[in-house]
Amino acid sequence: MSCIIIGASHAGVQAAVNLRGQGYEGGITLISAEKVLPYQRPPLSKAFLQDTLPEQRLWLRPEAFYQQKHIDLKLNTRVTAINREQQTVVLENGDTLPYSQLILATGASVRRLNLPGSERKGIHYLRDHSDTSGIKAQLPDVTNVVVIGGGYIGLEAAASLNKMGKNVTVLVNTARPLQHLTSPVISDYLCRLHERNGVTIETNILATEITGGAHLDGVTCDNGKHYPADMVVAGIGVEPCTELAAMCGLAISNGVEVNGYMQTSDEHIYAIGDCANFHHAIYNKPLRIESVQNATDQAKTVAQAICNKASAYTALPWFWSDQYDAKLQIAGLSTGYDEVVVRQESDTSLAAFYFAKERLIAVDTINQPKSFMVARKHLPTLPNIDKTLLADPDVAVSDIFTGAEACLT
Ligand code: NAP
Repeated sequence: MSCIIIGASHAGVQAAVNLRGQGYEGGITLISAEKVLPYQRPPLSKAFLQDTLPEQRLWLRPEAFYQQKHIDLKLNTRVTAINREQQTVVLENGDTLPYSQLILATGASVRRLNLPGSERKGIHYLRDHSDTSGIKAQLPDVTNVVVIGGGYIGLEAAASLNKMGKNVTVLVNTARPLQHLTSPVISDYLCRLHERNGVTIETNILATEITGGAHLDGVTCDNGKHYPADMVVAGIGVEPCTELAAMCGLAISNGVEVNGYMQTSDEHIYAIGDCANFHHAIYNKPLRIESVQNATDQAKTVAQAICNKASAYTALPWFWSDQYDAKLQIAGLSTGYDEVVVRQESDTSLAAFYFAKERLIAVDTINQPKSFMVARKHLPTLPNIDKTLLADPDVAVSDIFTGAEACLT
């Protein structure tokens, strides 16, 4: 019995850990294309970029852990093919490794800019350890940074680079940053926060050319404006890594298709994390979720499934982001909301509660951890929440949820 895990980020490493935790006694091979020990991604755009987190604290587990748990960690190793009939994977060096179960934890890769000048030096993406290292290496020569993209990567990179003394301009292609993820009240708060700290946020604007010689010197936009820059950081989204799965004929649609136990169209192959498109029991629709929570929780589900202790994936999605002194925490998915109730506890503490057809579906909080914790504990099961009480900062949010729960019994 042997399990091969392709991809050693949050999902892959956690799957190996959980397999051992579930008593899996077969061989476990964990394969990473990267040269460095498996690491946490969230600090790459925050503390690790700002040089306030030493390399060792980035690691998901110390090197000795893999030996202790008899996990054969193969770094700097690329899988080039999967042979489903023979149940083997083929490595770049030609070796083949047999598997009883195969877990695809291949993640996602960044979308790249495709505009004149995209090949110039000084353009960076922010996904992997090497990306952050590349940014850090160039930073001493940088005064002006243009960030392209108003998602989490764009905003977190802007906050970090601003903290490091750089002049930062963020180009957002929509009317507000995080438009695809949150409500205007949260976007507005974050815009003001960035602007107070000296970051310029330009909205409804599209970069059309990266100008300069071999090295870039600026960005021209569709409104004719030109922004001088020594560095461009693009955070314009990611695409699931499905090439290996597609090559061996697994079902693919916006990721590798899996059932509630993370099993693909081949019963011996599973997929988890950013690359997996699964039917979410809570939302009753197929979803592919790019988050640490999703990667970690799906790793538990797959380990249970392989160890014959199957229980279908039902975890509530949650996320977080740190920018300056703001801790943004999100529980549930707000897509499809028809009403937002705002709870402002102070100038720097607010929460947006999202309702759809009178039902609470999600909450975004900024520096309001209690609202996040309570909502995360109770979502998605609560029907009637008193919205007037929710908006009243003098009423403890835990009492409101406990009251609503009592009405159910
Ligand atoms: P993202 O959340 O998808 O945001 C990218 C933004 O860039 C979108 O608004 C996208 O608009 C826009 N965009 C696309 N093409 C563009 C272009 N050519 N010019 C300007 N803007 C463009 O992705 P991300 O911020 O790059 O982050 C990558 C992944 O890492 C995401 O899954 C993200 O959730 C995750 N991440 C999470 C955290 C966190 O949870 N704290 C932190 C960092 C990263 P369209 O929607 O129109 O394409």
